[in-house]
Amino acid sequence: MKELVIVSGKGGTGKTSITAALAALAGNAVLADCDVDAADLHLLLHPEKIASHQFISGHEAIIDPEKCRNCGECMRLCRFKAITVKNNKFMVDPYACEGCGVCVRFCPAQAIDFFESLCGEWYESKTSFGVMFHAKLAPAAENSGKLVSQVRQAARETAEKQGSKLILVDGPPGIGCPVIASLTGASAVLIVAEPTVSGEHDMKRVLGLAGHFKIPAMVCVNKWDLNPEVTENIEQIGLKSGARVVGRVPYDTIFTEAMVNGRLVIDYPETSGAESVIKIWENICQVM
Ligand code: SF4
Ligand code: SF4
Repeated sequence: MKELVIVSGKGGTGKTSITAALAALAGNAVLADCDVDAADLHLLLHPEKIASHQFISGHEAIIDPEKCRNCGECMRLCRFKAITVKNNKFMVDPYACEGCGVCVRFCPAQAIDFFESLCGEWYESKTSFGVMFHAKLAPAAENSGKLVSQVRQAARETAEKQGSKLILVDGPPGIGCPVIASLTGASAVLIVAEPTVSGEHDMKRVLGLAGHFKIPAMVCVNKWDLNPEVTENIEQIGLKSGARVVGRVPYDTIFTEAMVNGRLVIDYPETSGAESVIKIWENICQVM
């Protein structure tokens, strides 16, 4: 079983449009949307939910006013300034609380409860192209890396159960904790880059991350014809670091049109956008 993670150094490179098209071309892969902070693969693949699960992670402090002696020790100790006092009542701001537990440990009146925190939900769904796992992080919730690991784990278990040969993961943008959680242990990574100076910089960073975890990398440049010179630079950087260049996608308004209609770019077969993504898929199949 192989696991291909599709990432980009930044958001807005067209990663999800390309991932959705690859999902359709793969036919029966297990799909995982690990961009849990801004999940959008569902907008193109129209999953039908089979099961929902709560994502519980970390703790949240809550002061019991009946027990509180108004000593102010919790407020003094909280490094995150999450405790406020209003009308002589001490309260925890749930959006500022980091769940470190210091106030709970040192409250002389044991007046602070420390409940497990509901940080979001994750789902198992049916799509026309296979089972899909995806998630929604609660507003202001953290631990998206853990939620990514949860989504990947569920995708792996299902892939093993049904004997799938491929897991296709839509990874988060950037190089932070959720991206690391998406990449570790994967069979290969496809980096979708855009041909701008910042796109080149971001692509280098994510390429470095893949190299650090020793994950074979592939590179494709979206909207390459907007800047052929930077496209060339990006491809050379990829090749020098041992990555495979699997294709270029030209600027094509069909991507936007497909998105607006909730369709995939390969639903428009006569277009340069569709042809280029098909070519990329063929090249990926040769590598994996
Ligand atoms: S430390 Fe405990 S008793 Fe003191 S103000 Fe905070 S909650 Fe109240
Ligand atoms: S758990 Fe930590 S962050 Fe939250 S209120 Fe207590 S001391 Fe502050």
